Amino acid sequence: MKYIVLLKQTPDTAELPKITPEQALAGNEGVTKVMNPWDEYAVEEGIRLKERYGGETVAMSMGPEEVNEALKSALAMGCDRAVRLWDEAFEGSDVWGTALVLAKGIEKDGGADIVLTGKMSVDGNAGAVAHGVACKLGVSLLTQVAKIVEVTEETITVERLLDEGRETVVAPLPAVVSVVKEINEPRYPTFIRIRKASRAKIPVLSAADLGLSPEEVGASAAKVKWVNLEKPAPKKRQVVIIEGETPEEKAAKLLDYLMNVEKVI
Ligand SMILES: Cc1cc2nc3c(=O)[nH]c(=O)nc-3n(C[C@H](O)[C@H](O)[C@H](O)COP(=O)(O)OP(=O)(O)OC[C@H]3O[C@@H](n4cnc5c(N)ncnc54)[C@H](O)[C@@H]3O)c2cc1C
Repeated sequence: MKYIVLLKQTPDTAELPKITPEQALAGNEGVTKVMNPWDEYAVEEGIRLKERYGGETVAMSMGPEEVNEALKSALAMGCDRAVRLWDEAFEGSDVWGTALVLAKGIEKDGGADIVLTGKMSVDGNAGAVAHGVACKLGVSLLTQVAKIVEVTEETITVERLLDEGRETVVAPLPAVVSVVKEINEPRYPTFIRIRKASRAKIPVLSAADLGLSPEEVGASAAKVKWVNLEKPAPKKRQVVIIEGETPEEKAAKLLDYLMNVEKVI
């Protein structure tokens, strides 16, 4: 069995509010970057699948040289090797372009039985790259996966998280599986693995290596173009005093306020 985990490097969530729209549009956020938190669960599951069924787990990312740090984190957790896909021509890709590059990268690496992704990135928030990759590869897509029940030579059985319950589904392999945080608890890398990963040489595949022409990728091929980016207006802070004769009356008024005015329940 072979598992490929797709991971993105994103700004540290604590630093996200510091990024200005101008920095984001220029792709130069100027903040600490880490592995997208959702993707840690995908990496962990890729390693667990190797431990359960044997085989190889490969970490793959599309991004510039700084992305090596996120890939090294995946190696430190236990991935066997890492591959980076990058070319200046990939800049300004939309979801569809990102999915095309990743699908080509997977094919160039010899394919995979199971491709794992996170639920979404904390910066782009599209939650759509997995769908695009499955479509480009022409394989099964399983989203919201909270448990991998069983993998056989030909099929995968998973539990999908629904709003009110879980659904068990079976699909033919190969498959793209996007996971939710309920699936596992990502491990901390050991010191020895961190040291080993820090010395890893990560191969890079360019557009030419993937057989992609500049017209097929990046900003020129993007169907969805970023034209503006702005932060929400700061929320007005206010103190609301709930009056009432009894605790029961105050509680009822508070509930009414939260449900009908703030609409947070
Ligand atoms: C300078 C700049 C310009 C941009 N311009 C545009 C634009 O014009 N139009 C537009 O639509 N978008 C644009 N983007 C956004 C960018 O292309 C998105 O990051 C990309 O479309 C992926 O979407 P997402 O981050 O929302 O991923 P999601 O769909 O939320 O990601 C889901 C999962 O897919 C995997 N994944 C996502 N990205 C990668 C990756 N790079 N490598 C490996 N795995 C990955 C991860 O497992 C992730 O958890 C721009 C970004 C930059 C930095």
